[in-house]
Amino acid sequence: MRVYNFSAGPSMLPLEVLEEAQKSFLDYNGSGMSVAEMSHRSKWYDAIHMECLSLIRELMNVPDNYKILLVQGGASQQFDAIPLNLLTKTGRADYVVTGNFAKKAYKAALQFGDIHLAGSSEDKTYTYIPKELDLRDDTDYLYITQNNTIFGTRYTSLPVPKSGVLVSDVSSNILSEVMDVSKYGVMYAGAQKNVAPAGVTIVIVREDLIGDGMKGCPTMLKWKTQADADSLYNTPPCFAIYMAMLNMRHLKKMGGVSEIQKINEYKAGLLYDFIDNSKLYKNYVVREDRSMMNVPFVTGDKDLDAQFVKEAEQNGLVSIKGHKLVGGMRASIYNAMPVEGVKKLIEFMKKFELEHSAN
Ligand SMILES: *Cc1c(COP(=O)(O)O)cnc(C)c1O
Repeated sequence: MRVYNFSAGPSMLPLEVLEEAQKSFLDYNGSGMSVAEMSHRSKWYDAIHMECLSLIRELMNVPDNYKILLVQGGASQQFDAIPLNLLTKTGRADYVVTGNFAKKAYKAALQFGDIHLAGSSEDKTYTYIPKELDLRDDTDYLYITQNNTIFGTRYTSLPVPKSGVLVSDVSSNILSEVMDVSKYGVMYAGAQKNVAPAGVTIVIVREDLIGDGMKGCPTMLKWKTQADADSLYNTPPCFAIYMAMLNMRHLKKMGGVSEIQKINEYKAGLLYDFIDNSKLYKNYVVREDRSMMNVPFVTGDKDLDAQFVKEAEQNGLVSIKGHKLVGGMRASIYNAMPVEGVKKLIEFMKKFELEHSAN
């Protein structure tokens, strides 16, 4: 039996996508091989790879002057790659720290240049997005984390850096809402939240930002290396890219990003409305900064939270425990989480509240 999986990542994939992969697992398109076995230089894989790149371009409406890279090392490797590629003119960058991943990116960048904290929401345990930023004049870029997976916040409007180069970590909200790529210098995402199994990271970079990077920038961290080779400089994570391609085909069939955005807004609306109207559950994020993808909530009683997680699991609602930094619960409701899954969760929350608030 399949469960509703609320994991923050790796996370659910659409059933149709898994079934399609299963159908062709032993013999892909008459090749007599699995995609998991074939050469990354084969004609079959080449078609998958190119279709994956073109689907990203089409679904995200990526302008011609941007390159799309498929790389390894996770989103975390870009924490190093970003300063190494971009700190080339002034050696300076501004960072906004809105959570754990933002902080890791900030710390990584500190190794490579003059890095300034332009804003932080650490004072209130990352429950909001700082709106007033202390931006410097001469920098190479401004860095943000657009959706904060652990704390459940997101940007609803983007800051405009004086450098003209906004770098954004969109790991947990890529393809979930319409984004205007032309507003960014670089956006990137580990695939395992909203796109594919773990193993591939999508990096979308404006062409003028692709160069040799800082002196000593390792070949494999240099965006130019993969940009010049259509991301086939070395062996790519073929199977993850194949799954990403199938998932994007599926998304396109559903009507694309604007359609899934409507569904995501509906799902998040249902859950937040229920939480806001309940006496037992609380979400501490400032309302206008709430994430559509990750919904943390607590009962205010640690033992009751633990019991919730346990009973939810017995009811087929799994991986709903909050991150250890936050505690409580977190429902990650990415693209692949059906409306039905959110409704089931709310039904369970109602029942649990009735059973546990009588006394
Ligand atoms: C999951 C996540 C990361 C880390 O991704 P890895 O692929 O595990 O390195 C970074 N940033 C955000 C916003 C994430 O959600």
